[in-house]
Amino acid sequence: MLNPDNTFTATVLGLPRIGPNRELKRATEAYWAGRLDAAGLHEVARELRTAQLTQVRDAGLDSVPVGTFSYYDQVLDTAVLLGALPERVLGISDELDRYFAAARGNAEVAPLEMTKWFDTNYHYLVPELSAETEFSLHPEKPLAELEEALALGVPARPVIVGPITFLELAKSVDGSNLLDRLPDLLPLYEQLLGLLAAAGAKWVQIDEPSLVTDLSETELAVVHTAYRRLAELSARPAILVASYFGRLGAALPVLAETGIEGIAVDLVAGGDADVVAARSITDKLIVAGVVDGHNIWRVDPDHALPRLTDLRNAGVTVAVSSSCSLLHVPYSLKPETDLEPRLRSWLAFGNEKLAEIVLLATALHRGEEAVAGGLDIARTAVLDRKADRRLHVQAVRDRLAGLDADAIRRAPADERRVLQQERLHLPLLPTTTIGSYPQTGRIRVARAELRKGGIDRAEYDARMRAEIAEVVALQEEIGLDVLVHGEPERNDMVQYFAEQLDGFAATANGWVQSYGTRCVRPPIVYGDVVRPAVMTVEWITYAQSLTAKPVKGMLTGPVTILAWSFIRDDQPPADTARQIALAIRDETVDLEAAGIGIIQVDEPALRELLPLRKADQAAYLEWAVDAFRLSTSGVADATQIHTHLCYSEFGEVIGAIAGLDADVTSIEAARSHMEVLDDLNAAGFDLGVGPGVYDIHSPRVPGTEEIENSLALALKAVPAERLWVNPDCGLKTRRTDEVTASLRNLVAAARSLR
Ligand code: GLN
Ligand code: ZN
Repeated sequence: MLNPDNTFTATVLGLPRIGPNRELKRATEAYWAGRLDAAGLHEVARELRTAQLTQVRDAGLDSVPVGTFSYYDQVLDTAVLLGALPERVLGISDELDRYFAAARGNAEVAPLEMTKWFDTNYHYLVPELSAETEFSLHPEKPLAELEEALALGVPARPVIVGPITFLELAKSVDGSNLLDRLPDLLPLYEQLLGLLAAAGAKWVQIDEPSLVTDLSETELAVVHTAYRRLAELSARPAILVASYFGRLGAALPVLAETGIEGIAVDLVAGGDADVVAARSITDKLIVAGVVDGHNIWRVDPDHALPRLTDLRNAGVTVAVSSSCSLLHVPYSLKPETDLEPRLRSWLAFGNEKLAEIVLLATALHRGEEAVAGGLDIARTAVLDRKADRRLHVQAVRDRLAGLDADAIRRAPADERRVLQQERLHLPLLPTTTIGSYPQTGRIRVARAELRKGGIDRAEYDARMRAEIAEVVALQEEIGLDVLVHGEPERNDMVQYFAEQLDGFAATANGWVQSYGTRCVRPPIVYGDVVRPAVMTVEWITYAQSLTAKPVKGMLTGPVTILAWSFIRDDQPPADTARQIALAIRDETVDLEAAGIGIIQVDEPALRELLPLRKADQAAYLEWAVDAFRLSTSGVADATQIHTHLCYSEFGEVIGAIAGLDADVTSIEAARSHMEVLDDLNAAGFDLGVGPGVYDIHSPRVPGTEEIENSLALALKAVPAERLWVNPDCGLKTRRTDEVTASLRNLVAAARSLR
């Protein structure tokens, strides 16, 4: 039961850890390279935590999450905590090296698999468990971080990943049902709670984001058992079960029936459903996530405050919080001095969100008068954003209104195939690549020199043209049938387009951890999207001028651009997707007019945006497919549209792939041994398909015979007339010698099968 003397009013669910200037990334990579020892790495980490905890405390949060720091990933940390690292790394005696071996592998051992953390662009490491895994508690990290925070005078709330989420996210290596292992885990959690209480923790946060997914009755019963039992423990901190990334739905009453003291609900991603249900929970602390932890917009007090007051007036004890961990937004707006001031005033990054939370909590608990000035600034910014004309470009809206919602190619696919073949004269089993070629040292040097002003734009362009010429010559020499320009001019497949489109802004230091030491800097879509000029035509036509073979125009699709950006929260994502689609459509039409016969529109993120709840998935797939078709249906039937999808387990999206109606789809398939082709067939897919015949994630060069075997396997599922031959994905991260050798074998294999 909630003790009225032990509550709090303002918090966040977690903090970023890579460092405001990516200090942890640099130190970790220095450690890997042998330039920094373990003590040095620990010292950098400790300094980052100390500075952050002090800052968060000074911002005015009266409960501060600790333990969301990680050297790599919080799920891996949980596997360490529970003694659940895979057997193969246990021989490594050094603790830190064992940890990093599990994360990234080494010469002897393969790493854990990595996958998307719910619907974010963060990736976690997938624990490998079985019926035999022997769990054991290793509480050193949470205890040390708690002690460190308490010594700083921080009202620390240790955060741990909960048992349900841990088991739901793990991979069962023996096919056993992992939830059956809950009885073996609960004693360890009980032990840990006791230790945390003894060390001075008043609250503990147990993260259970899996509770926002569809759970069966059995799973809900397991949730109930777990938290009823943990709540029964006598010497323990108050328990806050934190959900995020969606609505709790049926899991909320289940948690409410247990003796835990607090529940965190995501009122941004989850909408209002949980607010309504939470009204009756008056014996717990409801931690209301009203400040978006997953996006960068300034909170609208007139949206957040009424919901908070509604709960409070219903008799609920309320704390104000971020909707999820601040891991998913950049640290601070402070370095963003180049952002246009008006746009900047609409934004809140991590530090600014702390201030928003304290502002809302004060308004809620002490009345709006107490923070009238702050609320005024927030309201003015929100109004200013609404009124900005760039958010409403009538010409774009009129054009979209005039286009059919379900844009379709003129002729059906089989008629298009004939027209395209007349134009392209491709051999059976055409060979091609996915787009990028190795990002060489030369390319990186040129980009750095351009940034520093060492070379001008003309010199940079000349160097990129030289790269293109080299890649085209290499492909001709290898004997590929459909060439690419190699994408040397693109820093990133989304940012490159965002930089050229109106309605997008880029940040200077807006880094967000994607996994381990890898960070991304997502662009911000703030307004209606307009393509002021052609974006790729010059590069592609230059490449085409060097060869008689067809060169593919290479574009990123609307869903992927959306998925890898911070998106508008003032209109449905579907509307933004359609605007981006229109810009891409215009580019395809311009490429076609410039004589390009094949255009590839990449959608590697199609699967990623799939909603967590089944009930929301069909609507998403419908607008995602529509956006893709809008972007690709402006061209003539004789122009061949390709797409590239970047994952082999399609699951729920398999049906949507046929809906894309791309003439040719290249997909990752090597690791799943072409199984994806059967899934495509089962879904009625009958278009051109290029299942990747080798895995580009590894430096290994596949032999000709191995590729022939893959193709033979593919031919069992797909007639030769529809089959393309290509690697799994872009070649950007590989070395030129590996690529050359692999592609020679690929061409040889295709020729021998013809
Ligand atoms: N065309 C891109 C490339 O080849 C596709 C990248 C991707 O699938 N993520 O790099
Ligand atoms: Zn790919």
